[in-house]
This record gives sequence, structure tokens and C-alpha cells, in this order.
Amino acid sequence: MNYQVPLLIDGQWRDSSSQEWLDIINPADETSIGRVAKASRADLDAALAAAQTGFAAWRKTSVMERSTYLRKAAALVREHAEEMALMLVHEQGKRLTEARIELSGASEVLEWFAEEARRCYGSMIPPRSPELRQYVQHEPVGPVAAFTPWNFPINQAVRKIAAALAAGCSIIVKGSEETPVALARFIQVLEQAGLPAGVLGLVYGVPGDISEHLIASPVVRKISFTGSTSVGKLLSAQAGAAMKRVSMELGGHAPAIVCDDADLARSLKLLGVQKFWNAGQACISPSRFLVQAPLYDEAIAGFQRIAEGYVMGNGLDKATRMGPLANPRRVAAMQALVDDAVAKGARVVTGGKAPDGKGYFFAPTVLADVPQDARIFNEEPFGPIAAFARFDSDAQALQEANRLPWGLAAYVFTGSATRGEWFKNEIESGLVGINSIAMGYPEQPFGGVKDSGYASEGGADALAFYLSSKFVSQTI
Ligand code: NAD
Repeated sequence: MNYQVPLLIDGQWRDSSSQEWLDIINPADETSIGRVAKASRADLDAALAAAQTGFAAWRKTSVMERSTYLRKAAALVREHAEEMALMLVHEQGKRLTEARIELSGASEVLEWFAEEARRCYGSMIPPRSPELRQYVQHEPVGPVAAFTPWNFPINQAVRKIAAALAAGCSIIVKGSEETPVALARFIQVLEQAGLPAGVLGLVYGVPGDISEHLIASPVVRKISFTGSTSVGKLLSAQAGAAMKRVSMELGGHAPAIVCDDADLARSLKLLGVQKFWNAGQACISPSRFLVQAPLYDEAIAGFQRIAEGYVMGNGLDKATRMGPLANPRRVAAMQALVDDAVAKGARVVTGGKAPDGKGYFFAPTVLADVPQDARIFNEEPFGPIAAFARFDSDAQALQEANRLPWGLAAYVFTGSATRGEWFKNEIESGLVGINSIAMGYPEQPFGGVKDSGYASEGGADALAFYLSSKFVSQTI
């Protein structure tokens, strides 16, 4: 395998003007599988100029044209999905099943925004005098700079691309240099659905250099980032200094509260799926398992069985239930979190280390009796570790759930509607699952509160983040 990933600038796929490249590694075996072009300053300026011309053309297209385009793009993505799913496994490590679901989800996102484009209604304002007509119309905010990460290379990008294109914006995407292959192919497929040159651009390179340059440019009117809270704050500050709109989908540290009246087997089964999906590298992955005292020991034994059923391996192998982590940083981070927790009194129930051999694997891990001051209860783990602690009262569980600065996803399992209702109202979180993990579909809002960010990438609100409102007062 020898992928060569160029940049997309002004409708042309081209190498970097500096002829520089970055290596792409398969996390399952640490082999090099190709290279990606590293954009130079001149390439970024060309991408910006193209985004400006692309915006001038795209904002004039009718919503029906945009909707038709997105629908066609969704169909083409379905047609080429298997090829892109394989690329995802090669470069990111996830299981083929997970990659296929990421691709079918991408088509659904395109279809959702094809519909939303048509619902971009304005509103009439009752005027104070009969000779006036007053109304609000929505307009695309302008060229967008989007920065997307490596955990769901296509899914994280399509939410931004589809919303921007539906609204009439042009967009430059900076994907992750570690997982550039499937996204580049995806964008090529989107182009084939008939976009004018410059409407969609793709660049890779040094993340900090690219974001600084694009955010400062007067061409760009909106920034959308998915990634860590620390980088999100940095980019938000840069955007604030240049008075740019932002959408920030940042980290989380999801509490999973299991009450003593929960259906334990069902709760653990759902939490297992949500925990080990994508090897735990998901911002909504449950990471603080809080179990009420009477069920605590049984819950740990049950989750141990679940974790031990997650056979690690190459995402292409049928027997594999969990692939490697996406990069060696995550393996080192997992080991450091486990070691710290153990040093502070936690117990490794299963896993807790990387297996011997090639690949960035880390065993599905269950930690019991994790003290509140352990790093894993204070830093987003973003990996396959379930850290357990017990609680006595609902108030105590709630206090722990809301203790951290994040507020993206939270899960509560209880047999009582009243308790579920109370937790749902009191938890500081953008997404709450009550006896449920069903979240992340295009028709649902997706976004956090507090340090988890700002704006929603799904549901009926999502388009608004790519639009500005114009109030018109007209004498008739
Ligand atoms: P990181 O913070 O260095 O990078 C996170 C992402 O941001 C990467 O895709 C990276 O390319 C990008 N990035 C970094 N600096 C940037 C900059 N100045 N401008 C633009 N983009 C920039 O960390 P990492 O080691 O890649 O990932 C680890 C942490 O990132 C995890 O702990 C997790 O919290 C977070 N993360 C979150 C998501 C998410 O879905 N919210 C996805 C990936 C990573």
C-alpha cells in the first residue's frame, strides 16, 4: 500500500508547492502506508483565494441546487463506501464494521443537510406602520475554515462540510495529517457530484501554522474545530482576536451513573458498546463509571467479562472486536493514566497494559476503586479504559458528574423515571442518555456545554451556525 495524498486547491489536486510530504503510518502494524502533502504558505494563500471565488459562486446557487448536489453526493459516497472504509482501517486502525458505519453515517449527514438546506426559512416581523415591510433573511456566513481530527476522519469532517455547503458557504478543510487518506478520497467523491472550483478545499501540513494563517485571513468568516479543549481554546482566542464566528466540538469526560435500581445487565451491555467503540477514542465515550454501592462489585465483575470479550487485532480481521489506538501518543497516555491510578490506590481488574508486538494496541481495561484525585478522573482518557468508583447517594453521583469542567455526554441508568428525570435536569451536559446510548445521529443535536465547546453539529439547529441573519426594513 502506498497512498499519495495531495491537496485540493481551486478544484485542482496538487502536490505541495514546497514538495514536502509527511509519512502515514498504519497503527495496526506500524508500517508506512504512504505520504501526505504538506501545504506551504503559498498553498494556503491559494486555497484562501479559491475559497473566496468559490463562495462568490456558491452563495448565488439556489437552495434547491445545493440540496440536489448534497443528495447526489450522498449517493456517490454510498457507491464508493467500501473503498473508503478500507482506507479508514488502514490509516486509523478501527474495525471494518466501524468504518462501514462511519461511511453510511456520512451519507446520512449529507442527506440530512440536503433537507435542511430547503428549510432555511426567514421570518416576517409585524411592522409598526402599514407602509413598512420588515423581515429577516438568512445568508451564508462566508468562507469557513474547518479543522478535523483523526478519531472519525470522515464523520468529523462531513458534519462541517455538509452544513457549510447547505448554507451556501465555501469551506477549506484541514484534516488530520495522521489520517488523511479516506478523507481525501471522500472529498474527491464530493467533488464528483459537481461542485464549482474553490467551494471545497483540502489542506494538510503543520496544524498550528495552518490554523493561525487561515484564522487570521480576512477571507475566512467562520472557524469550526473538533479536537481537544486546549487546542479549541487556542483557536477560539485566535478567532476572537479576528472577530470570527466559531463552532467548537471539544473533549468530554462522560459520567456513566448506574443506580441501584438499574437493569444492570442491560446497562453494562450498552456501556460496553459505547466504551470500546473506536477503541474508546470518542468524545462521548463513557469514562467515569459511577456505580451505586449495592451493585458495585457485580458491576465490576460484569464489565470485566465484557472487556475481556473485546479481542484486539487488525481492524480487517473478522475476529477483531477492538482495533489499535490511532497513534503511539494514545498508548503512552493510557499507560501513564493506569500507572498513576494504581499508584493512588486503584486496582487493575483487567488489562492495564499494552500487549507485546507491533501496533499501537492497549488492552481493554477496567480500573476499580479509582480515587477522585487520580489523573484518569480528571483528564479525558480518550482510550479503552473504564474507571470505576462507587457512590452512595444520588446527590453524590451528581456532584461527581458535574465536578469537571467538561459537559458533553452523560449517561444515567435507573429503573425509576423520577430519578432519571432528576438527573437529566441537573446534569451539566449537552447530551444525556437515560437508559440509552443512542446519540450522534444527524437528526439529533450534537454539542457540549462548559469546556466541551459551543454550537451543535446536528439536528435542526446545526445550519444556523453557518448562517447570519439580515434584518430588512422596507417602505412599500
Ligand atoms: P492534540 O490536542 O494535539 O490534537 C487534537 C487534534 O487537533 C488533532 O487532530 C490535531 O491535528 C489538531 N490540532 C492540534 N493543534 C492544532 C492547531 N494549533 N490548529 C489546528 N488543529 C490542531 O492531541 P492529540 O494527541 O492528537 O489528541 C489527544 C486529545 O485530543 C485527546 O485527549 C482528546 O481529548 C482530543 N481529541 C478530541 C477529539 C474529539 O472528537 N473531540 C478528537 C481527537 C482528539
